[in-house]
Amino acid sequence: MRPTDIRKPDYFHKVVDCQWACPAHTPVPEYIRLIAAGKHDAAYMVNWWSNVFPGVLGRTCDRPCEPACRRGRVEEGNGEKPEPVAICRLKRVAADNKGDLGAYMPKAKGGNGKRVACIGAGPASMTVARDLALEGYAVTVFDADPKAGGFMRSQVPRFRLPESVIDEECDFILDLGVEFRGGTRVESLKNLIGQGWDAIFVGSGAPRGRDLDLPGRREAAANIHLGIDWLASVSFQHIEKIGRRVIVLGGGNTAMDCCRSARRLGGEDVKVIVRSGYEEMKASPWEKKTRNTKGSRS
Ligand SMILES: Cc1cc2nc3c(=O)[nH]c(=O)nc-3n(C[C@H](O)[C@H](O)[C@H](O)COP(=O)(O)OP(=O)(O)OC[C@H]3O[C@@H](n4cnc5c(N)ncnc54)[C@H](O)[C@@H]3O)c2cc1C
Ligand code: SF4
Repeated sequence: MRPTDIRKPDYFHKVVDCQWACPAHTPVPEYIRLIAAGKHDAAYMVNWWSNVFPGVLGRTCDRPCEPACRRGRVEEGNGEKPEPVAICRLKRVAADNKGDLGAYMPKAKGGNGKRVACIGAGPASMTVARDLALEGYAVTVFDADPKAGGFMRSQVPRFRLPESVIDEECDFILDLGVEFRGGTRVESLKNLIGQGWDAIFVGSGAPRGRDLDLPGRREAAANIHLGIDWLASVSFQHIEKIGRRVIVLGGGNTAMDCCRSARRLGGEDVKVIVRSGYEEMKASPWEKKTRNTKGSRS
C-alpha cells in the first residue's frame, strides 16, 4: 500500500466533505479557523484564491458545501434538526470585516508576450482573466455592458448583492492589469480572430429566458415579462414599480428573485404558480423560505 501523499490537494478534497462538495474546492476549515482567530484578511484571501468572488458568494452562493458539512451528521443525536456550519455566511463575515488587502493581493507577473481576449465580463471571463494575468498574459475583456460583472450586476437583485461588492471584487481583477473594454459588443468572432489574439475565451453567458407562447400571450404583452429581462430592467432602474397583483410563473431561484423584487416594487398580492408541488420546487430552501416571509404565496 502506498503512503498517503498529503502534498496533493486531492487528498484533502476527498476527506473534507464540505471542501469536496464546493465546486471551487474552497479549503473551508482553513478559512473558518482564520475567522475564529480574527484574521479576516487572511480568511478572505483563502477564499479569493479559491473562488475569486468571496464577497459575492458570501451573499449568493447556492452553498452545496453546507448539506455536505459533517456537523449535520455529528449533531444528529443532539437535536431534531441538526444544522451544518453556516459556511456561506461566514464567507461574508470575512469579506465584510476585511481591511485593506493591498499587502495580500498578488502582483501580475511580467508579460509573457501572449495576448488573450475574453468575451463577456461575467464571473467566468473575469476568473479566466485573473488566472491568466497572474501568469503573465496580457488580457483584454470585452463586454457589451458598460461595467464588468455580467449577471452578478444585471440579474441578482441589489437587496441580495450591493453593487459596491461587485465593483470591489471586479476591481481586484482589473487592477492586475487586465484591460476592460466596456460598452463593446463583439459582433463578429471572425473579426476578433483576425486581430491576432493568441487565444479567445468566450464567456458570453446564457442570457435568454424561456417564453411561453400560450393563448393571450401576445395580446397581453405589455403586462407579461420574461424573468431575466425584467430583473435586468429593475437592476438598471428602468422599472421602478409594478401592479398590485402579480403572478410569477416558475419555481426556481430566478422566480424567487422576481417574486421578492415584485413585493419591493409595490406588488401586494404576489402569487407563485408552479406545476410541481412545493417540495419539488427548484429554488433553494432558504429562497423559498424568504419568499414565504415576504408575504408572497404559492
Ligand atoms: C435572476 C438570477 C439570479 C441568480 N442568482 C444567483 C445566485 O444567487 N447565485 C449564483 O451562484 N448564481 C446565480 N445566478 C446565476 C449566475 O448569475 C450565472 O451562473 C453567472 O453569472 C454565469 O456567469 P458567466 O460569466 O458565464 O455569464 P454572465 O454572468 O451572463 O456574463 C456574460 C457577460 O457577457 C456579456 N456578453 C454576452 N455576449 C457578448 C458579446 N457578444 N460581446 C460582448 N459581451 C457579451 C454580457 O453582457 C454579460 O456581461 C443567477 C442568475 C439569474 C438569472
Ligand atoms: S459557500 Fe459556495 S464557494 Fe463557499 S465553500 Fe460553500 S460551495 Fe464553496
